[in-house]
Amino acid sequence: MSEFAKDKRFRLAGKQIRRGSHANLRLKISETYTGDDLLLPLRVIRAPKPGPVVFITAAIHGDELNGTGIVHSLLFNPPFKLDRGTLILTPVTNIFGFESHERYLPDRRDLNRSFPGSAGGSLAARYAHNLMREIVAKSDYGIDLHSAAFQRTNYPNIRADMSNPAVRGMARAFGCSLIVDGKGPVGSLRREACRAGCPTIILEAGEPWKVEPGVLAIGVAGVTNVLIHLGMVQGEPTRPPYQTLVRRTTWVRARMGGMLKFHVSAGDFLEKDQPLATSYGILGDKTDVVHAPFEGIVLGMTTMPAVKPGEPICHVALPQAKMRSLRKSEQNAHPGLHSQVQEDLATSFDIVDYA
Ligand SMILES: [Zn+2]
Repeated sequence: MSEFAKDKRFRLAGKQIRRGSHANLRLKISETYTGDDLLLPLRVIRAPKPGPVVFITAAIHGDELNGTGIVHSLLFNPPFKLDRGTLILTPVTNIFGFESHERYLPDRRDLNRSFPGSAGGSLAARYAHNLMREIVAKSDYGIDLHSAAFQRTNYPNIRADMSNPAVRGMARAFGCSLIVDGKGPVGSLRREACRAGCPTIILEAGEPWKVEPGVLAIGVAGVTNVLIHLGMVQGEPTRPPYQTLVRRTTWVRARMGGMLKFHVSAGDFLEKDQPLATSYGILGDKTDVVHAPFEGIVLGMTTMPAVKPGEPICHVALPQAKMRSLRKSEQNAHPGLHSQVQEDLATSFDIVDYA
């Protein structure tokens, strides 16, 4: 295939969109109980010059609205002029879930575990198949935007298969501090898109059911950085205060039921054995403190201050880089987006010093 062949013959939802123009499209993706077409709203933006085709998908889990907010910013107020190539912006990928503020499809299946799907399979399989055929197959690269699951938040991080050189380049360029390496769960969009020859990364940031200002800013800057990296946009990429791969992660879980007071927030650096949270019996006569299992960084947390034994409290990441050098880079950085997002995310918790 010649360079940018997908860009040259670009058609979507049965329409040809010329270079240098943009179009709002409705792609038939499924049908409703009334028998009407379920239409996926898309905007295609084509630069005057040839280049890669990039899809940006949000809310494949229908309650993860931070990504929708990021795509909206790119629709209404893009911080760049597209110089080369084509952008496919999908503010809501799982329309069924979005309509009911839910993660799943009406058949209770997870759309992001249903790829590549099939034309004759379940509701989820057919929906995924249509996305693969109409969006992934027409793209050279992809960025899929996510938030944490129900009752959790994530410090913005990129998840990517770092053994794939094109994916690795995008993951680093996006500009999050933390990159979690892996192919992704079986049936996920990014895993199957990569397998189909469309290198794809995901952003995991913030909470479901919200558009958070810090996450929005990181997402918009990150997408812009990737487009600069791919030669589609001109400009200087922004850089995080530090960047490291994550070697492993673990959830620290509650040992007793009770109400939590937190001692850390998302993005914090941790010493080994540092107190993370104290749980109190409801009259305060029983307490338990959970500690960091190793030196690391808070990747995610529960936003639910009431826990039972075994419920997750804090997702701790062990970075590949030395903590000492990461601390140094963070201390030397100017306060910016990344410290801003950390402050924003911390407002979801009652954080007190450990006494
Ligand atoms: Zn998700």
